[in-house]
Amino acid sequence: MSRTALRICPLCEATCGLTLTIEGTRVTHARGDRDDVFSEGFICPKGASFGAVDSDPDRLRTPLVRKDGELREATWEEAFDAVAAGIRPVVERYGPNSVGVVLGNPNVHTMAGALYPAVLLAGLGTRSVFTASTVDQMPKHVSSGLLYGDANAIPVPDLDHTDHLLLIGANPLESNGSLCTAPDFPGKLKALKARGGTLVVIDPRRTRTARLADRHIAVRPGTDALLLAAMAQVLYSEGLVEPTPHVQGVEELADALREFTPEAVAPACDVDAGLIRTLARDSPPPPPRPYTAASAAAPSRTAPWPAGSSTS
Ligand code: SF4
Repeated sequence: MSRTALRICPLCEATCGLTLTIEGTRVTHARGDRDDVFSEGFICPKGASFGAVDSDPDRLRTPLVRKDGELREATWEEAFDAVAAGIRPVVERYGPNSVGVVLGNPNVHTMAGALYPAVLLAGLGTRSVFTASTVDQMPKHVSSGLLYGDANAIPVPDLDHTDHLLLIGANPLESNGSLCTAPDFPGKLKALKARGGTLVVIDPRRTRTARLADRHIAVRPGTDALLLAAMAQVLYSEGLVEPTPHVQGVEELADALREFTPEAVAPACDVDAGLIRTLARDSPPPPPRPYTAASAAAPSRTAPWPAGSSTS
C-alpha cells in the first residue's frame, strides 16, 4: 500500500517541493510538486534521486570507525569517542586551525544542523571553515559585500520582465538558478525567449542551459576574469556607463582596465574580439521605461544572433 507525501527537499537553498511516493517506510519515487509556489514542479537530479538513495544498499546506516586499518560499524558512543581521541592531539600539536570543518547545505534545513555547528566551531576555535558557499559562490558574497555593504544582499534579475539575460557560469536548467532561485526557472527562460528576449550563456561547458541559449560563448576555462575585464573596458571606452554619485573609484577602475581591450584578451579567452564588444554593448541596462503589460511583452532589444547559434 503506497501513499503520497508532500515534502520540501532539504539538499539546497532552492527548497524545491517534492511529491514523494512512500511504500511502508521506504521512499520509492520522487517528483517535483507542481503546486509548490516556490519551485512550481522543478527538481534537479539530486531531488529526483531520493527513492534510489533511500533504498541504496550502500547507504550508511550506522557510524563507521577505522580499526586495524578497516572501517567497521560502531555505536554513536564509540564514534564520538574516536572523534575526540583523534582531534585533541591534532589541536594540541598543530593548533585549532589545523582542524578543517566542512558544512553542507542540509545544515540549514534542520534545527540541530542550524544550532550546533556554531557551538562546535567555537569549541574547536578553528577558522578553517568551509561550506557549500565557499565552494561555489563566495565571489558573489565578496562582491556584494564590497558593493552593497552586505554579503547577503545579492541582487537577482526580474526574470519575468527581462529582455536580455546574460548568464555567466550558471546552469539554471539543472540548478533552478542557485542564488537567484525562481519558481520554474527553466520555464522562465523559455518564456523570455518566447516573448522575443535574448538569452546569452558564457560557460566553457555546453550545458543544457547553453543549448537553450541564443548564443553560447565557450570561454576558455579560467579566463572569465579577462573576458569580464574586456567587457568592462568596452563599457568605459564607448561611454556606455553612467556612474552615479554614490559610486567611488570609477576613474581608478577605468584606468586599471585600459589595457584590457577585447583584442588583448581574445587569444587567451578564445573569444573573438568583435564578439566581446557585442557582449558588452548588449549588457548595459536599457533606459528606464514605464512598466506596462504591453512593455513586458515587447522587449526593447532585438536578438542580435540567430537562435541556437554557438561558439562552442
Ligand atoms: S535544486 Fe535539487 S537539491 Fe536543490 S532543493 Fe531543488 S531538488 Fe533539492
